[in-house]
Amino acid sequence: MNALADNVESPELRRERIRRLQREFADLPAEAVLKEDLLRTGMAFTTEALRYCADFKTKSYFIFSFDMVPIESMSNEENLRAPEEVQFSGGPLGYRTTTVSVRVNPASPHRVDFVDGALKLFIGNEVEASLDLLGVPPYYQKTLASGQPVHEVAPTIEWGYLIYLTVYRKCQYFGFKEECRFCDINENYRQQVKAGRPYRTVKPLDEVMEALGIIADTDSAAKAYTLTGGSITRHLKGKLEADFYAEYAEAIEREYPGRWIGKVVAQALPEDQQKRFVDAGIRIYHPNYEVWDEELFKKICPGKEAYVGRAEWHRRILAARDIFGPENVIPNFVAGIEMARPHGFENVDDALRSTGEGLEWFMSQGVAPRFTVWCPEPLAQLGTAEGPAPLEYHVGLLRVWRDTHARHGLPVPPGYGPPGAGNALFSVSSFMDVIEPQVSEKV
Ligand code: SF4
Repeated sequence: MNALADNVESPELRRERIRRLQREFADLPAEAVLKEDLLRTGMAFTTEALRYCADFKTKSYFIFSFDMVPIESMSNEENLRAPEEVQFSGGPLGYRTTTVSVRVNPASPHRVDFVDGALKLFIGNEVEASLDLLGVPPYYQKTLASGQPVHEVAPTIEWGYLIYLTVYRKCQYFGFKEECRFCDINENYRQQVKAGRPYRTVKPLDEVMEALGIIADTDSAAKAYTLTGGSITRHLKGKLEADFYAEYAEAIEREYPGRWIGKVVAQALPEDQQKRFVDAGIRIYHPNYEVWDEELFKKICPGKEAYVGRAEWHRRILAARDIFGPENVIPNFVAGIEMARPHGFENVDDALRSTGEGLEWFMSQGVAPRFTVWCPEPLAQLGTAEGPAPLEYHVGLLRVWRDTHARHGLPVPPGYGPPGAGNALFSVSSFMDVIEPQVSEKV
């Protein structure tokens, strides 16, 4: 199965493929198969749907674009009106409620339409599911003293569970020789500023605290925050990476000790710098390794290879077990980029074997990686021309991840909300949807 085949597949063939995989992988929730497909190929919105969606919680562009077309190609202002997430349910298969992040793709076979007074998901002309949206939270309607909207400074995702604090909007891995090839953080910054969104390179600490104060006063759904942004290879505002991000955590934990689970996404840093995070009150560390295969890591993450190197990156991930506790070290990988043209694996079995080898290596040593589903972004170096990885890869990965996680008796990863189909809130992949209930009962 060639990834490019996705680009020419009719809605009818796509629905058949989804149904076939739901039968072949009957040990996985049927919802997870659809969710992965929505993430890897995005959703198209009709004008009527967008008119309806605009009154709900819309996309905040909390770090990357996560869209399959640039803003300048969005003829219906999808960037301003598409929802952050949808929850699908019902339909001919009686889906349980499932939360999915929205990736805009006007050419997707997944079409969101507003018909007979309700929002529905169609594949071709057939209804696949009903859709629900999250209302605008009270804090999204407020602005800070500076005039910045709260939803720009402290947006929430995962149906309001996670406050996403991208306090540095750019990455110091810069240009073709350093940026991760799947990543559009720097280009997305430019397109959002051009489109009029009030992005700033660095979010001032006092504004972050003011926004969190409003959330603390008006909200009970958020249970965690993530401090993140691009890598800092030199200094930012005179600080090393750990010092820069830890300063925010210190202020948050001083003002709101333990109110939310503190998480940080950063490079795999030396142990003394990891300890800065713990001392600041951070509980969960995401030193993302992006792709397992040695040659692909060099090609897809040239900056990480040049500044740290793959072996040292992995060594630091394992070293973090003694600093955070193994269950609190949760590196991410971008599921699907191991099949990205021109360097990736050409068939699904080889890609799953490689990714599974990495999962076995980490999980056998007590660390459970998690993943986000790669959707090709036009402004990233890899572009969109060759399409995403096949759905067969993504569904196969869910089984490999679930089985490896269960075989090593690892706990439900903390900081993601509830596990299991019908309950999971994590919206950018289905790893939380496929965790078996008996695993969650062990913790
Ligand atoms: S480290 Fe890579 S993935 Fe992370 S922001 Fe920088 S370029 Fe993007």
